[in-house]
Amino acid sequence: MPEYAFIGRSNVGKSSLINMLVNQQGLAKTSQKPGKTQLINHFLINEKWYIVDLPGYGYARVSKSSREKWEKFIRAYITKRENLQCVFVLIDSRLEPQKIDLEFCSWLGECQIPFALVYTKADKQSGPKTDQNVAKFNKTLLGWFEEVPPFFVTSAEKGQGKEKLLQFVQEVNQDFVKPII
Ligand code: GDP
Repeated sequence: MPEYAFIGRSNVGKSSLINMLVNQQGLAKTSQKPGKTQLINHFLINEKWYIVDLPGYGYARVSKSSREKWEKFIRAYITKRENLQCVFVLIDSRLEPQKIDLEFCSWLGECQIPFALVYTKADKQSGPKTDQNVAKFNKTLLGWFEEVPPFFVTSAEKGQGKEKLLQFVQEVNQDFVKPII
């Protein structure tokens, strides 16, 4: 089944966003698939696709070696999942573009992994301020890629962006071809 991974800096609002998508669909959390590390949660949505909840990056107080271990683990996971359709990179819409987020997008691009941007916490500041931060981040990516990846401005607090995001998943799912194992 197609999978969509969600990833972002710790505290970006990933759990809240996933809850928004899961709860309002009346969905159940699935048990761990055999052999999966407990670091990764899967949620089966409408019996049609999986949300893959990846651990956050950018913890301030972790050692270099645990950070490197994390990176290796996540990168291996992302590059090896055959059914992974898209990685949603969560970005805090209140902040100016952050190096760590840009670097992660750049890496996804280099690996040719399809990704989309989810700007979170849009209710926390004025619309123009959100638009400004979104525009800056997208502009930086435009310097590296031929086009801006799909992006969604969301608020888990207000339920903003949910429909568009689910619509996007539905559209991508239509093109899903099950890999031959
Ligand atoms: P995670 O660490 O990325 O999973 O982030 P959480 O979902 O736990 O959210 C971190 C903090 O941001 C919590 O205090 C949330 O209540 C808050 N938060 C998350 N999403 C939103 C949002 O859309 N609007 C507002 N106002 N706060 C949010």
